[in-house]
Amino acid sequence: MGKYDYTKINLIAHRFLLNSCSPQYPINIYSEISKIKNIQLITYEEWDNFLGRKIGRLASSYSPDAFTYNHPQLGFILAYNNKTSPYHRQRIQRIRFSLAHELGHILLGHFDKQGGSLIKNGSPKDPFMEKEADLFAAETLAPRSLINPYRGQNEIAKYFDISTSAARISLYYKRNYSSNSFNEDKNLFNHFKYIERNFFLHTPPRNLIRNNDFDPSLTYEFLGVIFHFCKSCHHIDIVENRNYKFCTLCGSNNLLLVSKDNYFEFHEAEEQTAFIDQEENGDMHYTKLKLDADGRLEEKCPRCENEDLRGSYCNICGAGIINKCSGNHIGSLWRPACIGHLLGADRFCPQCGATSTFLEEGLLEEYTKTKKNNLEKKTPKLA
Ligand SMILES: [Zn+2]
Ligand SMILES: [Zn+2]
Ligand SMILES: [Zn+2]
Ligand SMILES: [Zn+2]
Repeated sequence: MGKYDYTKINLIAHRFLLNSCSPQYPINIYSEISKIKNIQLITYEEWDNFLGRKIGRLASSYSPDAFTYNHPQLGFILAYNNKTSPYHRQRIQRIRFSLAHELGHILLGHFDKQGGSLIKNGSPKDPFMEKEADLFAAETLAPRSLINPYRGQNEIAKYFDISTSAARISLYYKRNYSSNSFNEDKNLFNHFKYIERNFFLHTPPRNLIRNNDFDPSLTYEFLGVIFHFCKSCHHIDIVENRNYKFCTLCGSNNLLLVSKDNYFEFHEAEEQTAFIDQEENGDMHYTKLKLDADGRLEEKCPRCENEDLRGSYCNICGAGIINKCSGNHIGSLWRPACIGHLLGADRFCPQCGATSTFLEEGLLEEYTKTKKNNLEKKTPKLA
């Protein structure tokens, strides 16, 4: 055993995980820290707006990544930088590590030890405490008992959503310090058992799962794209000069506008749900009909297979072949329909949440039906 008290660091990390975390990895470190009463998580921008002026220093002058301030009235303020562009995957992993590292300073009692009210990330003042906080972060984000030592650092990095250099530390730690000697480690292993099984047996890392509706490049890099995430059905709509108030797939108005300013919070709080949804329901192939520049169906009529489509209606079966807002609000009163045409995958009008004419006419399937069919297709495979 070196000069670091690994046992103590592990105990504190495991206690934190057992108390607060749902058995799921990658751990959502942002939401887990948010649950702790005397810690306030804020961005550098928020620090500069609210406290920077009072205290007289801008956040970025303390540290490029994160720092913790022990405020006499407000408790621990953990400030992190979420504004460095572009939002590469590594950047997000770095924020995750910084948050866990800062949490380590707080839970390991470094504030009592050092006596001051501010701890900066990477401060050369006390390299010992910095290393302790790093070990805490490594054990929290990728606990040794959940790591298969025969897997490579890249796979571990992807699985736990940490950088490859952090994965290297975790692997080193795993190989050199057996986890059998700690009772708490066994509890942790049981706590995360189902994840452990998945990791060995093995479902692909969530970031590698591909999906029609989900551009995988979005999950790796964030290059100024703005999109809407539907908290109800987990669908993503890229904003293309449209005013989105409602989800075009399920009609819910529970939308989150994601831009570079809140991409990290989205990544930590919501992005995983989209992938978990996919894992549970299989690849979702929501029908998207091909339209021409006027919004008219460009393929054959899905209802009667008529290929000669002109005007506004199919001349064989009478289906409306331009997707529009119907004005029909499910479970509510009809209101005048919006003007203009909708896109080929729209089940609902993004402006008012009414059904689309394609959904009403049965040219597009309800998304819950697609989900159900997917599940039925998937079930025999499990037997
Ligand atoms: Zn530090
Ligand atoms: Zn939705
Ligand atoms: Zn037809
Ligand atoms: Zn409408």
